Amino acid sequence: MRYLINFDAKLMDNYETDVLIVGSGISGLFAALNIDEKLKVTIISKEDSKTNNSYMAQGGIAVTFEAEDIESHIEDTMKAGGYYNDLPAVRILVEEGRKNIEKLMAYGVEFDQEEGHIAFTKEGGHSIRRIVHKKDYTGKEIIEKLIEVVRKRENIVCYENSFLIDVLTESEGVKGAIALIDNQKKLIQTNHVVLATGGIGKLFMNTTNSSISTGDGIAVAYRAGAIIEDMEFIQFHPTPFQSQGEAFLISEAVRGEGGILRNKNGEAFMGKYHPMKDLAPRDIVSRSILKEQKVQNSPEIYLDVTHFEEGYFDKRFPSIFNYCISKGIDPRKEWIPVNPSEHYLMGGIKTDFNGKTNIEGMYSCGESARTGVQGANRLASNSLLEGIVFGNRVARTINSSGSIVNKSIDINFSELIPISDEYSKDILELKKIMDESANILRSENKLLEALDKIKKLKAVYENKCCNEKEFMEFKNMLIVSELIISMALDRKDSLGSHFMEDSNE
Ligand SMILES: Cc1cc2nc3c(=O)[nH]c(=O)nc-3n(C[C@H](O)[C@H](O)[C@H](O)COP(=O)(O)OP(=O)(O)OC[C@H]3O[C@@H](n4cnc5c(N)ncnc54)[C@H](O)[C@@H]3O)c2cc1C
Repeated sequence: MRYLINFDAKLMDNYETDVLIVGSGISGLFAALNIDEKLKVTIISKEDSKTNNSYMAQGGIAVTFEAEDIESHIEDTMKAGGYYNDLPAVRILVEEGRKNIEKLMAYGVEFDQEEGHIAFTKEGGHSIRRIVHKKDYTGKEIIEKLIEVVRKRENIVCYENSFLIDVLTESEGVKGAIALIDNQKKLIQTNHVVLATGGIGKLFMNTTNSSISTGDGIAVAYRAGAIIEDMEFIQFHPTPFQSQGEAFLISEAVRGEGGILRNKNGEAFMGKYHPMKDLAPRDIVSRSILKEQKVQNSPEIYLDVTHFEEGYFDKRFPSIFNYCISKGIDPRKEWIPVNPSEHYLMGGIKTDFNGKTNIEGMYSCGESARTGVQGANRLASNSLLEGIVFGNRVARTINSSGSIVNKSIDINFSELIPISDEYSKDILELKKIMDESANILRSENKLLEALDKIKKLKAVYENKCCNEKEFMEFKNMLIVSELIISMALDRKDSLGSHFMEDSNE
């Protein structure tokens, strides 16, 4: 179905803006700040402005400051991505990194310093130390500072606890959008919609992602006819701390600083699987953990930092330290129990190098976009970088096209039947299907079975509508899940994070 709700645009409350940005993560905020101050920009976010994956980022941002490091950052990104990345996009990412990091710093973002210079750390897949960070709460530092600047900008309006339902299109492109703002359905008159809606972690039982990550922007774009690509490439982080359904991230920077993965017998097993050991790219470490669990016939895997110099771990990684302590583990003396969980989507809404989709007036940046930089597996700390580099490019594109707001939107839709049924058990069912089929190890049989189940679930709800935000999210999740499973089935051979047990690596 083209839209999520029945509506008649002519009868709706109007709200006018030059640019609608959906998402207050790093990519949405950075795009907003770089849009010409003569244009009215409206940012909406599903929960408060700080509930997003950007705020939770720990490790930092990979950035090349020295010209001689450019080629090695490009090579590391391509290698981690299985050489499936679009090389020109990767070059843009790396070459434009420094100037955008400097912009972030001009907005007030502070990174850790060492002897008067920015301190760099290392993570898996990086050949040198090139990650700028603020202890282990880099995302919090960035989002808090960007929000402060956004609030001072007179041309930017923010609505929290709002919800993009759909983007309205006609053959010429974007005509507007429908969103819940202050619990009211509004027709948003705008010719520019930026989808900066983040990831899809909530399609799985175990994820490091925040509650907003249900893939809404991808589903909205798909319904509008945007090209969606590479959805089979989903990154599972090797080392979240598992506790009561929560997967709290233990940053890769912990291994970058010397943390070692051990099996239940204390053996440092990564050397058996890859020459880069604990700092191999994430897809390899996650699969190695599963192999080791099988070999040992035990789910127990630990991250050991007990050998760190006294006082170092708690000072360098205070949030992780405090979390472990709250769960009864003292990392200075005990190993941290870890297990892989869904973390990041490499695919998404296909854009060109300026963040434009195939639909005139629709843009995407950040995790919801498929720019081509992440390939089949993202290099650690390249996603915050993607958010600023391509957020800035989206802003530049909008600035150069200006704005003429279309005031007469004559679109209506009335094909859905309102329901008040109980659907939450089916959300759980969908997550179970995704866990069983689209996880780290995949097989054609499991994927085919999953596709069949998802199609049946979709058919139940296809022509139904309901005003609850959770129901709309669920319908979006069904679309995104079907895209993931279908694209995984289309890719018969393993590549990067997409590992088919029945094919060769
Ligand atoms: C725990 C954790 C640690 C990480 N650490 C790092 C790191 O150290 N370095 C790194 O580079 N990357 C890291 N990542 C990945 C990185 O944080 C994300 O990929 C990146 O922040 C995504 O930014 P974004 O702007 O695309 O989306 P997000 O920051 O997730 O923001 C999405 C926004 O879209 C809004 N939204 C979604 N749907 C709707 C809707 N229907 N209506 C209205 N609003 C909507 C949400 O409310 C939210 O404001 C980490 C991720 C996690 C989960």
